[in-house]
Amino acid sequence: MARIVGMIATSHTPTIGFALDGKKQEDPVWKPIFEAYEPIKAWLKEKQPDVLFLIYNDHVTSFFFDHYSAFVLGVGEEWKVADEGGGYRKLPPVKGHSALARHIGKSLVADEFDMSFFQGKGLDHGCFSPLSVLLDHDDKGWPMPIIPLACGVLQFPVPSAARFYKLGQAIRTAVESYPEDLKVAVVATGGLSHQVHGERCGFNNPPWDAEFMRILENDPVALTRMTHAEHATLGGMESSEIVMWLLARGALSANVKKVHESYYLPSMTAIATMVFENQDTPMSAKVAEAHRAKMGEQLAGIEKLDGTYPFDLDRSVKYFRINEFLHELVVPEHRQAFMADPEALFEKWNLSDQERDLIRRRDWQGLIRYGAIFFVLEKLAAVVGVPNPAVYAAFRGMSLEDFLKTRNTQVVYSVGGNEAQGKIEAGEKKREPAE
Ligand code: FE
Repeated sequence: MARIVGMIATSHTPTIGFALDGKKQEDPVWKPIFEAYEPIKAWLKEKQPDVLFLIYNDHVTSFFFDHYSAFVLGVGEEWKVADEGGGYRKLPPVKGHSALARHIGKSLVADEFDMSFFQGKGLDHGCFSPLSVLLDHDDKGWPMPIIPLACGVLQFPVPSAARFYKLGQAIRTAVESYPEDLKVAVVATGGLSHQVHGERCGFNNPPWDAEFMRILENDPVALTRMTHAEHATLGGMESSEIVMWLLARGALSANVKKVHESYYLPSMTAIATMVFENQDTPMSAKVAEAHRAKMGEQLAGIEKLDGTYPFDLDRSVKYFRINEFLHELVVPEHRQAFMADPEALFEKWNLSDQERDLIRRRDWQGLIRYGAIFFVLEKLAAVVGVPNPAVYAAFRGMSLEDFLKTRNTQVVYSVGGNEAQGKIEAGEKKREPAE
């Protein structure tokens, strides 16, 4: 069974990545930062985790306020560096551990955490700044996969510190109920005291930071009883990020062994690191099995429904590419390119031969069986001027006329707007009216 070996807490200021890329290891200003990470790197080499569960917050890079979520679990198979405005850092993509991530996602929802899930998005400095100093890497890649958990801490209401801690406890259950023998290290990122906006900009509070680190080790629940305003009073507004340290601490045993601590305040943000080892007794195989049964409760028996294809995280990750290709048809330029030269667009998107064939033949039922969700098919249908009932008829292996006879009214429609309307009306004129 999988188990959590411990947690690393670290700031994630962009300065860390900046110092690394600028090769400032020997610069006296930056040297303490690198020195702080040496014991953590040694700890990682000793513990040899198979995967890092990386808790961070995005800085309005990949997640904007058009759709902002509290807890967003990364279930994808690969993670690229996000462009934060000045071009990409020269770092290779890091593999995801999608299977464990999907298990954790299902477990958390079963435990009543209504998670969001993401894939296909870049990760910003919240992830890659600490990762690039924690793990040796080259052009080819990284020594271990990660599972990113993005926390929305920038737009209030933000869940309480207590909720973050409870999510950590649920993550412990999720990891320990995973049947494969995997060692997981939890990494919490976020700066201690800092404020980077307004007249209070530049606020730091080293005595509180020291106190926070002491309480985090010995009595984390005390920190969950503080409000965001109380945390901001003591640590500055942007120190709200420390709730992610609490999240990670919740995933560990009540008693932990502290094996490393460092603190350095070079500029705006207190760069602190801590490493705790888990002193847990993992859950028994029997309890883990019962938990997995609970995770499967909601969809138990669904396989008995003929002609039904539930769209779950497994499907979503495996067939993300083709669903994304079809979803992009909501963008006028993409659908114009598709209509003008579909083969060129297939090539550009690197779709497989099977996927190209299914789309070329408008094999609606084949696309559903393959892994497309219906709601991208109705977009494709709208683009190519096929009304929804014709798609339903194809699913049933019937002609449109025969399918319409099974309905109370014989209406033909599409989700498409003015572009689709004309195509469908033209098609209707050609069609023999139903008897
Ligand atoms: Fe930050």
